[in-house]
Amino acid sequence: MIVVRFLKRMAIGLAIGGILWGGAMTCNPSDLPRAGASAHSWAKEPKNIILLIGDGMGLAQISASLYSSDNRSVFESFPVIGFHKSFSASDLITDSAAGATAFACGIKTYNNAIGLSADTLPCYTILEEAEEHGLATGLVATSSITHATPAAFIAHQPFRTMYEDIAADFLQTEIDLFIGGGKKYFDRRQSDERDLIAELRSKGYTVNDYFYSDLSLYSKFDPSKNFVFFTSDDKPVLAMQGRNYLPLAAKLAPPFLRERSKKGFFLMMEGSQIDWQCHANNGYSLLPEMKDFEDAVANVLRFALEDRETLVIVTADHETGGLAINPGSKLNKLDLAFTTNGHTAALIPVFALGPGAEAFSGIYENTALYRKMREAFGWATIAAPPTTGMN
Ligand SMILES: [Zn+2]
Repeated sequence: MIVVRFLKRMAIGLAIGGILWGGAMTCNPSDLPRAGASAHSWAKEPKNIILLIGDGMGLAQISASLYSSDNRSVFESFPVIGFHKSFSASDLITDSAAGATAFACGIKTYNNAIGLSADTLPCYTILEEAEEHGLATGLVATSSITHATPAAFIAHQPFRTMYEDIAADFLQTEIDLFIGGGKKYFDRRQSDERDLIAELRSKGYTVNDYFYSDLSLYSKFDPSKNFVFFTSDDKPVLAMQGRNYLPLAAKLAPPFLRERSKKGFFLMMEGSQIDWQCHANNGYSLLPEMKDFEDAVANVLRFALEDRETLVIVTADHETGGLAINPGSKLNKLDLAFTTNGHTAALIPVFALGPGAEAFSGIYENTALYRKMREAFGWATIAAPPTTGMN
């Protein structure tokens, strides 16, 4: 019965271009983004790109979340779907550092590398290039902001665990906004006496943190200054323990960045802890992480549907846990199983919506996301093509 109902809903979804939500809903259908009749009146080229990365989020994680949510998912809103090959230069099984460097720089590098090529040369990231073009930029993560995925867009270090060096690299750019944990790597450093928060403030940044404030108190970020918010001293807590700032950041960061530059913006947002719950083989705590991430995606879609000039891309760096939905599972009552505590090499889905989205269909290397994003921005082709080989 579930299968029949699902197919029916898919048919309805396809008939209307895959933009609307399919099927009858039981939880707040009015609260979901809908494209309406003007779904295809996008701008010709995107002014803004929002890249959302669900770390460790493969098809099974998306499926588990969908079948635990009355057979509905924010991913049904996307008209374009593709897959990327996630392997790194050093291993068929990538880690988040090499995975994010592939998106940020368009090169396959070794596991552990942050914004460096396989021969340890710094690569120019899409965020740095966006800065150069006068766009506003932002990074948001539910890990520490110095963790591998956000780090690879702004830092250049040979090992992902060099958190204090990565933090110092944030000062090398004029990034407009970042939100995440890891305050201690900025203001209570072991490797030197620098207070990077004081340095950010002297550069004109507004810096606030979980200790003195709460992101939920904000209804708007002041666009007259760069904005930083630390959500924890080290790693933020789990979604099931009450962490809920990602959907709020997804609501407030895009309009803030739009006001920061008339030329547009690049924003990367990561649901970091999907990966961690899969490493822990914990399906129970995985589902709230998926819900948190999907709520953030829904808020980004609301912005994009109103803005019309924003390309939204949602993907993962790799799958984690080898998750399976085992026989005996029922709708909203799944029997989840894992095959590993580590990552796997399964193809990773890519969802796209907005101007330029059609370029993201098909099967391609993870490095192609970088090239496709640059092309969507209309930037000139780079002289050296990104490497795609595997050792
Ligand atoms: Zn991982």
